[in-house]
Amino acid sequence: MRAVIPIRESNRVFTVIIPVFNEEGNIKILHERLTKVLLNMASSYEIIFVDDGSTDNTYDLLKDLCQNDDRVKVVRLTRNFGQHAAVLAGFNVARGSVIITIDADLQNPPEEIPRLLNKMDEGYEVVFGIFKREHEPFYRRIGSAFTKWVLSRLLPSLPTNLSGFRILRSFVVDELKALGERSMFIDGPLCWMGFKIATVDVKRDKRLAGKSKYNLFKLINYWLDLVISLTNLPLKIAMLSGIILGLVGLLLAFIYLVGYLLKGYPVQGFATTVIFITVFSGVQLFCLGIIGEYIGRINLEVRNKPKYIVRELLNIHYTNHVK
Ligand code: UDP
Ligand code: MG
Repeated sequence: MRAVIPIRESNRVFTVIIPVFNEEGNIKILHERLTKVLLNMASSYEIIFVDDGSTDNTYDLLKDLCQNDDRVKVVRLTRNFGQHAAVLAGFNVARGSVIITIDADLQNPPEEIPRLLNKMDEGYEVVFGIFKREHEPFYRRIGSAFTKWVLSRLLPSLPTNLSGFRILRSFVVDELKALGERSMFIDGPLCWMGFKIATVDVKRDKRLAGKSKYNLFKLINYWLDLVISLTNLPLKIAMLSGIILGLVGLLLAFIYLVGYLLKGYPVQGFATTVIFITVFSGVQLFCLGIIGEYIGRINLEVRNKPKYIVRELLNIHYTNHVK
């Protein structure tokens, strides 16, 4: 068992936000372990579970917890809106001066929270608990490496990989909310804002119960969102590939023309034509797809749809809920 580093500052209020989607097997143990850690750290804290449209017994378990512990609060969403929307829903009701986000499946051990806090107290405003995805599927490891690469290109000053295990000062969360960013991936805007970010290597346990809620499709969507929320670079790449292919086409035309005029070579090659048509139209569709991704997001922005809808609040009696 890892030693808990005791940190107590009487005036600090901690908010822990946990997005939950069908996590009935994890809720009780998570609550027990978190409570133990938090009692050691703070005289005042709240634990906000955001039920992201669970269809198993999760909500009933959360309701029980709320009845027995008024430091537990629940935001129940009308349906599944995704992990980041759920965290955002938690941000919107959080009252702490220090805000922690953690997964429900105990892959991030709550006992590591004091280490994140200690790092933050060195003068940082956001700290990510990062870990190696050694035991995870191949596409997760590739995705993680891709995210790291994108971030290091786009935000070279940022010494980080990302993770859903974070600790943030509340003014960072306030700024994030004020930003009104449409991205469904909160880490994009979070990194963009320029606050002092640090990372701490944390232990990564196996998921206690249930299965990962992410499949390849969902992850690709998140990766796209991360890139698009941070940069217009893909549009420039699309344009550049158009220019390069256009030049290749012109060069080929020139070669064929010169060959025909000087040497009388007939223009030939059915295979060449087919290959070129396929490659060029592939690139064109790819570029259209990139543009489409941006336009799709503009569409979302124009319609100004909320990122989530709340069905019910438990143990939350104030009404400053904004979306
Ligand atoms: N989650 C959520 N909504 C979703 C998907 C996930 O609230 O649509 C929650 C999930 O219950 C867990 C956290 O987000 O608390 C991380 O999910 P998961 O453990 O499946 O992700 P992984 O560890 O595989 O990255
Ligand atoms: Mg997990």
